[in-house]
Amino acid sequence: LETFAAQAVIAIQNVQLFTEIQEKSRQLEVASQHKSQFLANMSHELRTPLNAIIGYTEMMADGLYGDVSEKAQGVLERVQANGRHLLGLINDVLDLSKIEAGQLVLAMEEYSVADMVATVLSATESLARTKNLKLGSDVPAGLPTGTGDARRLTQVLLNLVGNAIKFTDQGSVEVRARQVDGRFELSVVDTGFGIAPEDQAKIFEEFQQVDNTSTRKKGGTGLGLSISRRIVELHGGRITVESDVGKGSTFKVTVPINASPIEEAAQ
Ligand code: ADP
Repeated sequence: LETFAAQAVIAIQNVQLFTEIQEKSRQLEVASQHKSQFLANMSHELRTPLNAIIGYTEMMADGLYGDVSEKAQGVLERVQANGRHLLGLINDVLDLSKIEAGQLVLAMEEYSVADMVATVLSATESLARTKNLKLGSDVPAGLPTGTGDARRLTQVLLNLVGNAIKFTDQGSVEVRARQVDGRFELSVVDTGFGIAPEDQAKIFEEFQQVDNTSTRKKGGTGLGLSISRRIVELHGGRITVESDVGKGSTFKVTVPINASPIEEAAQ
């Protein structure tokens, strides 16, 4: 009887412990949702004045408020560049908090892969030029039009090409597209630093950067790839990397040609 009583006491304690853990995890979930909502609101509020700063500086640099000396022009350009950088960081935090709150909704439309690649190349060519890198593309003619969130998929490609340029000091960055059955396969191939095997899975996690000085020196938040991964997954696709240290990396995005958004519960 004594052992039975002892077992009963243990069982009751276990139930109490389980209820407590359940309550704590519910509280954590609520707190995490509040955090995501706060970040989403906050980054939205930060964007408005920042856009005004960038806009006015642009108008001033364009001479809309009178002549600008060469020296002042240089300063205005730096204000703009810093403003754009800050805007990029804020947009990343906003995207991530939306993703975490399950609020990132895809806006589906028809798109052309060739147009998308052209947009990405024209947005990144000046950056590639400053590093003397060859920037090119290989997109076969006659690919079908796709259905997906074109703006978000462009953002993914921009992130991949931006990274490829950032982490390559000589050689080339190339964007390739092809159709494999019902999917598009988009690859960004660079001849850069490469990523060690043990780091290849980590880089798709939030805030993860490869821990070496050359990466740290390049700045960034470590959010780009995790946002890209979530965007691709919301399309029902996958993003993978193959890389050799010292030789380069290939990031591959595969998405259904006719994607329908994956419903995601808030987490
Ligand atoms: P960020 O570029 O802001 O640091 P990302 O999430 O885009 O954040 O990338 C995470 C990390 O993955 C980078 O800091 C870098 O260490 C590594 N990485 C990403 N792309 C490449 C690449 N093409 N070549 C080498 N390393 C890369």
